[in-house]
Amino acid sequence: MLASRSDSQLRSLENPDRQTMRGESSKRSDKLLEIPRKKLNMRLYTEQEQKIQDYINSKAVTISIIALVGVYAILIFVIVALEELMDEAEFNDVSVILSWIELGILIVFILEIAVGLYAWGIMKYYKDKWLILDTLIILLSLFFVIFELADQKTSNVVKVIQAVFRFLRIFLLIRKAQTFRRLSTISTISTPAEKIVRFLSELKEVIELESMKLDIDYCIDKIGSNQLYQMGKLDEDNAEAMGWLNQSQQGRTDVRKIITVDQQQQQKKVLANFQKLNIPKRVLEILDKQHDDLYIDPFECDKLSAGEGLVYLMLFLFENYNLFEVFLVKPKVVRSYFEEVTKGYQDNPYHSRVHAQDVAQTCNFLLSKCKFIEIGQLDEQDIACVLIAGAIHDYGHPGLTNAFLINSKNDLALTYNDQSVLEMFHPSQCFKIAWANSKANIFENLQFQKYRRIRESIISMVLSTDMAHHASELAITNSRVASPDFEPYGKDKQRLMDLVVHSSDVSNPTKNFEIYKEWTERVLTEFWQQGDKERELGLPISYLCNRYTTNMAEAQLGFIDYVVKPTFSCIQGFLPAFEPYFENLDKNKAKWQELVGYYKQQLASIQPQ
Ligand SMILES: [Zn+2]
Repeated sequence: MLASRSDSQLRSLENPDRQTMRGESSKRSDKLLEIPRKKLNMRLYTEQEQKIQDYINSKAVTISIIALVGVYAILIFVIVALEELMDEAEFNDVSVILSWIELGILIVFILEIAVGLYAWGIMKYYKDKWLILDTLIILLSLFFVIFELADQKTSNVVKVIQAVFRFLRIFLLIRKAQTFRRLSTISTISTPAEKIVRFLSELKEVIELESMKLDIDYCIDKIGSNQLYQMGKLDEDNAEAMGWLNQSQQGRTDVRKIITVDQQQQQKKVLANFQKLNIPKRVLEILDKQHDDLYIDPFECDKLSAGEGLVYLMLFLFENYNLFEVFLVKPKVVRSYFEEVTKGYQDNPYHSRVHAQDVAQTCNFLLSKCKFIEIGQLDEQDIACVLIAGAIHDYGHPGLTNAFLINSKNDLALTYNDQSVLEMFHPSQCFKIAWANSKANIFENLQFQKYRRIRESIISMVLSTDMAHHASELAITNSRVASPDFEPYGKDKQRLMDLVVHSSDVSNPTKNFEIYKEWTERVLTEFWQQGDKERELGLPISYLCNRYTTNMAEAQLGFIDYVVKPTFSCIQGFLPAFEPYFENLDKNKAKWQELVGYYKQQLASIQPQ
């Protein structure tokens, strides 16, 4: 059977050199080389066994087997239905033919098990205990079918057992379908680091020596946390060496130490006083009900708020999480600050104040409904950082991409040296507007170290929204989530906060199709306006920016498969509460698939002038 083997597929160590882990841990690896492989108690696979494993795990074989299980399920229903509808003599004639077909299918399943047992060995093959049950069902089914073919006159008792058993076989279908769903959600793109981490995790499974397992954990940790070339811990007393080596990070370690102390703010405020915030009644009602809901309608909120949706959302959340006390500010300062932020958002089709409000609110959905607050043990200060980052992350967005700004030698690209141009610009402006106006400065009363920590965290999150770093950062985060010493509440917290903001920024495909479609039309309108400009200026037309060739539906299929699914399967890895929402991606994909033809026709009807 093909159950979860593809994720734990084993590779042999044909070349002993592959066991060498060079560099920092050379002493450890020397030890490793001295141990004969037999002593490691490892099951090594021959080239032929490996080839068979690859073959069984291939997509073609997987799909064929699932199709066969589907046929099998239909066959069972046909048998049951005919037994009811036909008289006994008639049924006996037909049932012989059907039983032969069933026998054929069962033999294929038995062969699959036999080949699997040969390729993996009995211990590894039956590591997934469900496979034992699968095998049992198939063997017993085989027994019944042969029994039926050999002797038509079965007793009533046997018939009843047989009938019950037939339905038990449906169980096989459900198991196969689940396996397939899991296979299809796993991203097909992976970096060498991810492959190495997967290989090491698999290696760990087959080794019995405890000390070596620890070594492997060490390797996974260092690769996963991207620390391969960082110095080990230095003697804390050696102040001079510490000073030289930490020059660029002065103050950082201290800041973290200080901040983690104020844990007493953990307690939730029991009674929130939303009345004092002067939020329009209708808006307050929506926020009260839906502030942590994935399906809130941001366009409706913006309409009802007369364009102040972001201001009301942030006021509401500040009160909800007791953040006025964290920042030691009055609501009117927070109001003024987010009024300034709102004003900074241009009236772009997509990158507007509504998008900012939408991203901040989606962050709150992940914090609250998906329990990131609990899992990451976020204190009020962390919560504030995530929400503020979401609110400001596209401040001043010109409706043009980094590529355009760089290619057109825009002043922003020159200022930020072509590096994450907009993602540098947004937070930079948002800190400037605070310090330029003390009536709107939410940071003014923060103790300096606290301010440094908040600033560092917000900037990190906004920088993480740069799609240029998406694949590499996601790979590292995936490795961290898979690492044995993954600490969502400790050393991995900021990385996960970054991902929460970045994923909220690309979360449209996880929502209701109507709202998602509205966002899609807006983002492409914006891209196409840029494409027109590029054409005018003789610049290369950026990806998705050509209104004459971009099929909206097809573009979304790619976006879901290559960006959104991998992002949210990582989110699901540490926020399991997201799972029920994940299937929206497939539902929405199906809707776009239906629309591909329509947009093709639309494209055919427009012509460049
Ligand atoms: Zn954005």
